Amino acid sequence: MSFENFGLKTELLSAVAAEGYTTPTPVQTEAIPVILQKRDVLAGAQTGTGKTAAFALPILQLLGNTKGKACKPRCLVLTPTRELAAQIQESFESLGRSLSLRSTVIFGGVGINPQIDKLRRGVDILVATPGRLLDHAGRRTLDLSQVEILVLDEADRMLDMGFIHDIRKVLKLLPNRRQNMLFSATYSPDIKRLADKLLNNPEIIEVSSSNKAADGVDQTVYPVARTRKRELLSTLVRNGEWEMLLVFTRTKHGANRLTKQLIKDGIKAAAIHGNKSQTARTRALADFKSGSIRALVATDIAARGLDIDMLPHVVNFDLPNVPEDYVHRIGRTGRAGAQGIAISLVCQEEQKQLKDIQRLLNHKIPVKKVDGFDQERTVPTQPDTFRKKRPTSRPRYSQTPR
Ligand code: AMP
Repeated sequence: MSFENFGLKTELLSAVAAEGYTTPTPVQTEAIPVILQKRDVLAGAQTGTGKTAAFALPILQLLGNTKGKACKPRCLVLTPTRELAAQIQESFESLGRSLSLRSTVIFGGVGINPQIDKLRRGVDILVATPGRLLDHAGRRTLDLSQVEILVLDEADRMLDMGFIHDIRKVLKLLPNRRQNMLFSATYSPDIKRLADKLLNNPEIIEVSSSNKAADGVDQTVYPVARTRKRELLSTLVRNGEWEMLLVFTRTKHGANRLTKQLIKDGIKAAAIHGNKSQTARTRALADFKSGSIRALVATDIAARGLDIDMLPHVVNFDLPNVPEDYVHRIGRTGRAGAQGIAISLVCQEEQKQLKDIQRLLNHKIPVKKVDGFDQERTVPTQPDTFRKKRPTSRPRYSQTPR
């Protein structure tokens, strides 16, 4: 299978070649022909599968074939996070570089006036997060009456983040006749309900179940006491000479604390999470990509949709509470065929999460012990008499929301 088989315009084929894509990924092979037939699509595909080009290429082709009216958006892509929105718009921009279609991105946390100016000048493809989109609609600086194609990307994450009401409001602003696509890594009952309401006789595309996506990644669990995780991480980074790692913590506070500690250990690091300004997040990502920082420390939500090619190491500093998040996290490494390494620092208190993750993966994750950090050795030995009195259940640590 090659991109030529889809009957795409030469402008798109040359953009694909310039991006260095030689063979379509499975989601592209399945989705592109269906979208070109103007059919609705429900696709189970997560970040790293090439899903952005799977919808961007046929959308560019369809919009490039016809003329729109009055410079109003003809395609709307809704995404959960600013980073993902920015990356999707960049993909439209680079894949559509030789077409005369205009795309723009709007999200919160930055000034609204430049966005108003861009919308006023006219746009064919609009990529947006739901809140700021509604803000524009409320100010009447945006007219969605000419939208022909709607994409909900990472729909599961949008629902997790509480965007369902905003999505419903946006749907009311769109014309009834339109092509719809819903991309989601997981199918919860809520997603099914949304899909039933939104999609008209959709083609269902499932590229890989979430546990399969994890198979291409070399995964290891390091047992370690909770209090010694940072030390172990710094040791692994130094000994393994890891140059580029994405580290996941469960909380924003944890991300900040770990970042400071890594810097003290001589490992250049930056945190990326929802409390950081857009400028700080963009700078951290740029520094990470350019190699001027080695470790990017992120929470699940902030990391979602970060487009970083060939990320060699993903570290679960804390295991996620939701097993599917583990799969999303490690899906950030070994992208587009490259071999990736995912390591998890697991303390006694996280055994339940580990069990749930292994159940989802349907296999055990290999365990490696590092001398001096092995869990049992780090737990202070207690006299026998005392040990007998210890409660069998361990204290639970309070969890601050992400
Ligand atoms: P996505 O799942 O859309 O976030 O894409 C993941 C990564 O794969 C991005 O860095 C894309 O540039 C890259 N990519 C997309 N399609 C292809 C392809 N056909 N061949 C190689 N890389 C691709």
